[in-house]
Amino acid sequence: MTYIIAEPCIDIKDKSCVDVCPVDCIHEFARILIIDPEECIDCFAPSEQLITSHGLRTFAELENRSCKVLTDDGFRPAFVRRFRRRQLVEIELAPAFEERDRYGGTRLTTRNISRFRRTIWATPTHRWVLADGEATDALGVGQFVPAVSAWPARDSETYRLGALHGLVFGDGSWNKQEIRSGEHLHYVQLYGERVARFKMFFDQVNFSPCLDVHPGYAGTGVVRARVNLKRSLPETADAEYITGFVDGWLASDGDPVKPGSWRIRSTDPDALSWLERAAPLAGFVTVGSGEEASRETNFGVRSRPIRWLYLATRETYWCVTHVEPQEGYEANTFCAVVPDKHAFTLGGGIYTGNCGACEPECPVEAIFPEDALPDKWNDFVPINYAFPDADKINSMVDEYATEHNVQNPPLE
Ligand code: SF4
Ligand code: SF4
Repeated sequence: MTYIIAEPCIDIKDKSCVDVCPVDCIHEFARILIIDPEECIDCFAPSEQLITSHGLRTFAELENRSCKVLTDDGFRPAFVRRFRRRQLVEIELAPAFEERDRYGGTRLTTRNISRFRRTIWATPTHRWVLADGEATDALGVGQFVPAVSAWPARDSETYRLGALHGLVFGDGSWNKQEIRSGEHLHYVQLYGERVARFKMFFDQVNFSPCLDVHPGYAGTGVVRARVNLKRSLPETADAEYITGFVDGWLASDGDPVKPGSWRIRSTDPDALSWLERAAPLAGFVTVGSGEEASRETNFGVRSRPIRWLYLATRETYWCVTHVEPQEGYEANTFCAVVPDKHAFTLGGGIYTGNCGACEPECPVEAIFPEDALPDKWNDFVPINYAFPDADKINSMVDEYATEHNVQNPPLE
């Protein structure tokens, strides 16, 4: 069970919680309301990632911690909780887009040629927000969920620093030796319009006469940092820094595909794997990937293949292509409680619902996640677990109320 109704509900029963429950699992008994433990929602595997205001984080990393999660309304405060062990299903999703249909309307469709997929491990009854605004606790093949990305500012100092990091990461060089101050020195040769437009971002730009003979050379930017930026990803940075990083990296290693869409190429699989899931922090959704067919080059065989990702800014959805129960795969489940919003974004920009919807509705604070129930009300765990046995629930509540002399004043 994820949520428990406790003593303050006895004889109050105003039912404010009932209407907000997306799966109708709060039921009325003689003196109290009870949550059906089989229906009440739980969520994701501990290793799943969610998008926070400080990068991609796993649920396990954030257990019992507050954070800000990405919603369709920007970053909102949330609290990550662990729930009971549950069997999980593997959900496979493909990017989808709105297209005109033959009748002059629009429809959501996947690109059949794209094999790009994202996989999520969740409980089979997890609550999902669908593309049409409805919600379901039985996500199935052919249904669409929205993709969400952030819309960070691109004019702050944090963005500038992120862009310098991205330019170094994509196309810069590292001095190989720390300079005396303990800083690392990096150089970015500013060739071509896409990179040169960042020239003003550098505190120092040198001109190398021997490079000045090359067409499009606009100088060599110098970047000092505490770490080797050529080797590090901004995994826990905020959205503005990550946006700067992605823009800088795209300027170095990206090719515009169409307005708002880029292909970015790299031989670094870890960096691409991170970008694939973190791109929504920079306003993109990763909608495709590929890998070179041959590693042969004029200079020999490349040790690692060039891979690429397609990043899009257009409105994107995710279509469920496969739901596979995994016999015997059980894990602790986790979810983010997001007051008022009841939704958040997984890595890759997959928007999902959550629950805890009933908790803030209760005027007498009677509803708690099971692992946050005050010890003095532990008796209500077996009472809630007795669902649906009405006789048992009613007699247990009577016994408890007599023993503890419960006299909750009626609501005004
Ligand atoms: S947590 Fe959600 S699913 Fe569970 S009882 Fe409350 S509203 Fe219903
Ligand atoms: S809102 Fe609170 S007091 Fe009202 S019925 Fe639900 S649990 Fe009971």
